[in-house]
Amino acid sequence: MQMYHICIFCSERMGRLAEFINKDTQIKNETKRMTVIIRKLCLTFVALSVVNLFLNAFWLHSLRGVLLWCGSILIDGLTFYISYHASKNIVLTVFVIQKCIWILAATMLYGWEGGFQFFLILLMILYSFGESGYNGKKLIFDILCFVMFVVFVLFFKGNEGVIPIAGMDRIIQILNILVFCVSVAWVSSTFSTESQEYEEKIVKYNEQLKIEAGEDALTGLKNRRSTKEVLEKLVDNKIPFSICMCDIDYFKNINDTYGHEFGDEVLVAISYVFKKMTTDNEYVSRWGGEEFLLIFPRLNGDDAYMKVDRIKDEIKKIAVPHGDKNVSITMTYGLTEYDLGKNPEHNIKEVDEKLYMGKQSGRDRIVY
Ligand code: GH3
Ligand code: MG
Ligand code: MG
Repeated sequence: MQMYHICIFCSERMGRLAEFINKDTQIKNETKRMTVIIRKLCLTFVALSVVNLFLNAFWLHSLRGVLLWCGSILIDGLTFYISYHASKNIVLTVFVIQKCIWILAATMLYGWEGGFQFFLILLMILYSFGESGYNGKKLIFDILCFVMFVVFVLFFKGNEGVIPIAGMDRIIQILNILVFCVSVAWVSSTFSTESQEYEEKIVKYNEQLKIEAGEDALTGLKNRRSTKEVLEKLVDNKIPFSICMCDIDYFKNINDTYGHEFGDEVLVAISYVFKKMTTDNEYVSRWGGEEFLLIFPRLNGDDAYMKVDRIKDEIKKIAVPHGDKNVSITMTYGLTEYDLGKNPEHNIKEVDEKLYMGKQSGRDRIVY
């Protein structure tokens, strides 16, 4: 039972610590991502410093070592504090500068064998992710890291540091390698995961935009613009087709009697029937308010007529419920075959005229 309470206590504390680390910056128009990474790195380096502090105090008995690690803890603490108040760029600059000085000091004290020089690679990765674009600052920083590395190779490789670490060198190296690997994995996985997420979002957003640009929002059918593209493609590829323009009969009455929202329900119900009755190779579009255009590629007028006749019957079966009664509707259709070589606008005009004729002669019919 006591163990259970201890677990609850620990998980609560960890939750609060995570909340504290992930807290947003006070700077507006800035994401907290970089700042949070630096906070995590500061805490990791504090842990590394504490371990090294003990090693220096109890095994190496080095006052200089103790001073270095106490200073390191203090400066990481200060950077951590600044991260809550300063902009991302300032925090990044402070972190990178203090770590460059720390790497230099630690390498001077413990020599090449300490393995502190590898943290320069971490700083290069961090800086290249933190600064947007490839600008002059990044280039200067990369050159600076390169020069520091060369200096370390020339002056420290093969020489012992001020504090002899023979016997302890493996432990110090392994500790540094551990922190280095964890930090690099942390930084790169944070940025790569995020950039992948952005990429996926952009791809999805683009797809959505395309759909929205070509689709009617209410019915999900093609809109007039994308239908014109379809017609152009069919004409360009010299594919014969039949087209049918249809319009709901007395739709104004339906709106006036049952309300505009109910009218929308009717439009959706009709669209559903159109989708159900046509194949994937045929096109249905909402041409205007309550007018629809059907395109039947590679279907001659007679076959298209039979198809439209079946659609007409299905439309008449629609019964949209309103209160305790079901409302039925009829539509009038104008149908024609595309004249090869002519502008499809010509056929659209033709089916529009036929539709008008159908309305004039009593509605609920196909004029072919
Ligand atoms: P006709 O048989 O001659 O076609 O008569 P009608 O009443 O259907 O024709 P009219 O052109 O007079 O009316 C069309 C109506 O369609 C008017 C308009 O309010 C309605 N309408 C157009 N778009 C929408 C829409 O998106 N939703 C709803 N609910 N109604 C719409
Ligand atoms: Mg109309
Ligand atoms: Mg109408």
